Amino acid sequence: MQRKIHHGLRRLIVVMACLVLLGIGLAPARAAAPGDRPARKMAELMRVSVERHRHLCDSTDVLKARPAFIPLPPGAVKPAGWLADWAEAAADGITGHLDERHNTFRSAWQAKDVRAPGARVQGTGWPLEQCAYWLDGLVRLAYILDDTELIAKARARLDPVVEGVLRGSPSFIYWLPKEQLNSGFDNWAHSHMGRALVAYYQATGDPRVLAALVKVYRDYPLPPLGNRFYPVNGIVNLDPMLETYVLSGDEQVLRTALAAGERESFRTTVEQWNQGQFGGRKHAVIVYENIRVPALLYPCTADETLLEATRSAVRWLDRDHRLPYGVTSGGEDLAGIGSAQATETCDVAASMWTFLSLLRITGDREWSGRLERIFFNAAPAIVDRDFQTHCYYQSPNRINSRFPGRVPGPGGDFSFRPINGTLCCVGNLNRILPDYIMHMWMATPEGGLAWTLYGPCRVQAVAGEGVNVQLECTTAYPFAETVTLAVSPERPAAFALSFRLPAWCAGPSVEVNGEAVDLSTARAGFVRVERTWREGDVVTLRFPMQPRVAGGRESTGAPYASVFYGPLLMALPIPDDGPNQPDPTAPWQYAFDLASPAEVAGLEVARQEIPETWDWPLRSPVAIEMPAARSDWEFTTVPQQTTDMKTGQKKPHGEACSLPLRPVKSKGPATIRLIPYGSTMYRISMFPITARAEWVIDDKQTD
Ligand SMILES: [Zn+2]
Repeated sequence: MQRKIHHGLRRLIVVMACLVLLGIGLAPARAAAPGDRPARKMAELMRVSVERHRHLCDSTDVLKARPAFIPLPPGAVKPAGWLADWAEAAADGITGHLDERHNTFRSAWQAKDVRAPGARVQGTGWPLEQCAYWLDGLVRLAYILDDTELIAKARARLDPVVEGVLRGSPSFIYWLPKEQLNSGFDNWAHSHMGRALVAYYQATGDPRVLAALVKVYRDYPLPPLGNRFYPVNGIVNLDPMLETYVLSGDEQVLRTALAAGERESFRTTVEQWNQGQFGGRKHAVIVYENIRVPALLYPCTADETLLEATRSAVRWLDRDHRLPYGVTSGGEDLAGIGSAQATETCDVAASMWTFLSLLRITGDREWSGRLERIFFNAAPAIVDRDFQTHCYYQSPNRINSRFPGRVPGPGGDFSFRPINGTLCCVGNLNRILPDYIMHMWMATPEGGLAWTLYGPCRVQAVAGEGVNVQLECTTAYPFAETVTLAVSPERPAAFALSFRLPAWCAGPSVEVNGEAVDLSTARAGFVRVERTWREGDVVTLRFPMQPRVAGGRESTGAPYASVFYGPLLMALPIPDDGPNQPDPTAPWQYAFDLASPAEVAGLEVARQEIPETWDWPLRSPVAIEMPAARSDWEFTTVPQQTTDMKTGQKKPHGEACSLPLRPVKSKGPATIRLIPYGSTMYRISMFPITARAEWVIDDKQTD
């Protein structure tokens, strides 16, 4: 009896606490926006996309391997808290205004010549690609924020494409004949417009958009998937093509997609990837876009070799090219592991989309972990704090505005600018925020909902037997360890909510109305809570974070160490007075000097409240005090080799900038303060090590 009363009291306290939280302090900035779509509209959109998908999952005729998660329409998940601040900065900054900054974004996809870099006749060439990247991000963010102005801007650009197709054109490049798709580049650009139109349909349910997608993809000239990653071609149209099939059920679209996977060249490539053979020049953005392709066909075939080919490619990238912020080097080709290597901003967006696809297909938390690592680290590092300028490349170590100094490719450099010379990155970066927000929650085939990527948000969705459900997700994660979820179904309803237990977390806990959930039943890192949910139910997730370290060797052989806290990569900041003005006197010559994992786990973590407005400030709410060795280490250069494609012989190929090749000597102890990598524009995040820290070389990253 006493226990019952105690439990009742506890529940009352939880409910009251929740009401207080909902009422005060947590009202998201755009909560009262007049454009917010009501539950009825969202239920209708769920019917046109999610229910259709769920229906297919029930029939093994078509989806032979049930995908684990189904995306919600853009706008079902809205950012709150710090994430809303960042999304609004994007809307007020580059994403919302890119067409006002450059002719490529003002004029592309409008059936006319475009005067811009890389433009070819009649508006083809680079502007098609770059502008499609932007439109894909713009249309998602517009509906996520229910921002009337952005919606109008996106519609004004996408509607003519839809109308052009419906008037009779065979492709989204509606002003030109189908032969235009013989250009590998334009065919590739076409796929990115396809992705934008899929999002446009999911966000609006407009049947004209779906009709255009079906018309184009029923009989689409997909080029072969070859074992090469240069130059671009249009095989990635398979992505929007399969989405079109799921959304429409049009079997001719499916037949066209499946036929691509049956070609001999496709099968040969899959076999080679499964054997760890990856050919030719390796342009990183093409690598990320192409390695996804076999896995996309897995749900329709249940052919494990397809999924395994993609996984094999990811393992290869991890081993040879992945940097601590979760993306490979790419400047612009894969360039090995190195603290001064460059990652092109396009790779941040492309890697996220590939890992989102794998998360949807497999339901494995591994992909969520990878996505959080990229989103909380690599993503904020490429835009200035006000989202007005961006950089083309980032690097794990960036000590001043001239280092890394060698510009690896022709497109841009490490400086922050409103626009860089080549416009792919300023287009692609707009996808990163909405792609993350949109997939924070996903539907499951059996009528449940899964929290796949953490952060503050509000959700309007449908679960169980068509019941409208609101979810209020309150947290400062990843800057806090506790995440609170208030569940509000319109009436008591039975359905399952799934929660991810991050792989880096040793002791997670999940409570429903104060009662602990048994986590031993978790599958693929997700624990599923099935019950009758009622208004006022509260779920509390705790993910205790501990500093941890991961080490390895640069491709030059130089040992390094990086420190992590939860999903955050931590870095020694070099303070700045703006994006291109680092403090030249700031010291950075320290080495990692801890003797054991226990010393790392015991590091002191300084916490404070997250600032009122969040713009990835240097004054981060999380910091780690770490003893380190003072040193006089300098970057060194190491001659590089490459393999001649014709003769197979090794030949000299420039120099790589490297950390010291051996452990460095200490000049005495120091204490340094590490903050999240994403809050820095200049930093050291890959440290050289001292001899007593050599154990770290074998300690690998956990997502
Ligand atoms: Zn780029």
